[in-house]
Amino acid sequence: MTPLKDIRLFLLDMDGTVNLGFDPIDGAREFLETVRAQGKQYIFLTNNSSRNADDYVEKMRRLGFFCDRENVFTSGMAAGLYLRHEKPDARVYVCGTRSLVREVRAYGVTVCEDGAGADTVLLGYDTELDYGKIRTVCDLLDGGADYYATNCDMVCPIEGGRYLPDCGSFADMFENATHRRPRFLGKPDRTMIDVIARHTGVPYEQIAMVGDRIYTDVKTGVNAGVTSVLVLSGETTAEDCRRSDVRPDYVLQSVKEIYEALTEESL
Ligand SMILES: [Mg+2]
Repeated sequence: MTPLKDIRLFLLDMDGTVNLGFDPIDGAREFLETVRAQGKQYIFLTNNSSRNADDYVEKMRRLGFFCDRENVFTSGMAAGLYLRHEKPDARVYVCGTRSLVREVRAYGVTVCEDGAGADTVLLGYDTELDYGKIRTVCDLLDGGADYYATNCDMVCPIEGGRYLPDCGSFADMFENATHRRPRFLGKPDRTMIDVIARHTGVPYEQIAMVGDRIYTDVKTGVNAGVTSVLVLSGETTAEDCRRSDVRPDYVLQSVKEIYEALTEESL
């Protein structure tokens, strides 16, 4: 377990970790400013593959946080980098938003727009899903195409405390028809952290994954073998943590305590 002041790259969940809806969490700005002032880095991680990095840059800036494109990483970007690196010859049909198609293509992945000639399917949180795409995915999976998905979340929260089916639910729908399961590349799979470590060159022992969900955020860190930090400022309670078989390296009230750990030595 690495002391927090020796961490060089903080991978941060967003909602419940640095913000609650439209409000920054107390101490989050100071924490992020200190990370930058000390020459360290932070990257916001999201499993949502329906929106692109620019949407999140804007959202984080509205909260008063410093954020450029290199401070945001989506499961769609992870999928693009993963496919580019691990399957450079793949011909990919993307069942996802136009934004995801653009993102994956930008990494140099060969995308087959209508599925013709594809040998690989990438399923995303497709908020533009229609019956033609459903048919194409089933045809390719029945034909033996390799199969990946951006994230396993069953639902996506929307305004008013309601939910919509997310990528994990779409995967269940396709499984009912084809008996195929994808490899999910988003949290809690370690792929996002592996891809970021390779991209940034920061060694695993100097990376921390910080989040409010024990079964996704903390588990991602545990799976990748980096320092894991649970913050109790969002979904998980101290009682949930005690009952869980996932063991974070640190359990903190909020990121404010990381800020305190980072500034302690200069007191
Ligand atoms: Mg969260």
